[in-house]
Amino acid sequence: MDRNIFQTKLTEILDIKYPIVQGGMQWVARAELVSAVANAGGLGILSALTFPSPKELAIEIRRTKELTDKPFGINITFLPTLRPVDYDAYIDVVINEGIRIVETAGRNPEPYMGLFKSAAIKVIHKCTAVRYAKTAERIGCDMVSIDGFECAGHPGEADITSLILIPLTVDAVSIPVIASGGFGDARGFLAALALGAQGINMGTRFLATQEAPVHAKVKEWLVQASEHDTILVMRSLRNTERVLRNSVSEKTAEMESKGATLEELASLLSGERGEKLLQTGELNYGLLACGQVVGLIHHIPTVRDLIQTIINDAENIYRQLKPNSRVLPGEE
Ligand code: NAD
Repeated sequence: MDRNIFQTKLTEILDIKYPIVQGGMQWVARAELVSAVANAGGLGILSALTFPSPKELAIEIRRTKELTDKPFGINITFLPTLRPVDYDAYIDVVINEGIRIVETAGRNPEPYMGLFKSAAIKVIHKCTAVRYAKTAERIGCDMVSIDGFECAGHPGEADITSLILIPLTVDAVSIPVIASGGFGDARGFLAALALGAQGINMGTRFLATQEAPVHAKVKEWLVQASEHDTILVMRSLRNTERVLRNSVSEKTAEMESKGATLEELASLLSGERGEKLLQTGELNYGLLACGQVVGLIHHIPTVRDLIQTIINDAENIYRQLKPNSRVLPGEE
């Protein structure tokens, strides 16, 4: 269907068709996935730190531009890392390549806001608490993406679910809010809009698509996993991450419960091990960020099918919810 009833401030500001954003997943958000999302009408976001150097990020940006003529963004995550990251050099590449949308995460992006603004870049700040969203608005971010406790990766330390966090954030800021954490189908999409968000962000759901550049065994793992199969690690480091349950995440959690230090945990946490898991399909090799929405994932569609199904199903649900479309219980 060509008619599109889900135009929001998000689609207007970012010049995209549908208010569906693909999370900038470490090791996953590469050109194949990002361009597929962009071509299907959503916002694809490349993950800057997936590329070991700024030069390799520049190559990936050019590769993405060859695969789509639609807008796409770059995620820049400022969380602590085991390896040093030259953020200034990555941001130079983003600006020099003419990127117009950046998603920041992990820390207040204020030091870079002047640079982003002078390059006419729209900044989406992804955060996990209302107070961070208010700061993002104050420093000039164009949108916030608010991550509920259900989310994959880093949910923050307060454990507030999306159902609470989204309306609280919508009430607290006047910039558009993107709902993140727990979204994977039309029901969640429509619920997010009802809560006042201007769109949704999905990570885990896009990981289980044909185009996600990861081993097939990883996708099958997601299909088999239930909502009970994620656990939190790194809480002892105040850098909590939601990951799938496997021998590495269980070992990490067990060592943390016995007071292990970062140095002792480092080899288990290492992003390089997570990348190897994704590429080889060796499911006990490292950590895999994964949200509770994994319980709702039962198949591996193409990105286009996924987005179009969400939009079509949401339109059908919306019609059913309209007051005149059926009588209320007890009424004739
Ligand atoms: P890495 O190999 O450098 O570090 C491994 C993990 O240890 C990361 O989660 C990192 O945040 C954590 N860590 C490192 N030093 C720490 C410290 N001093 N205190 C607390 N935690 C510490 O990281 P990577 O896997 O190459 O990832 C690069 C960046 O992307 C990191 O910032 C990571 O957190 C982030 N990331 C985000 C997601 C997400 O879902 N948003 C998923 C994976 C990675």
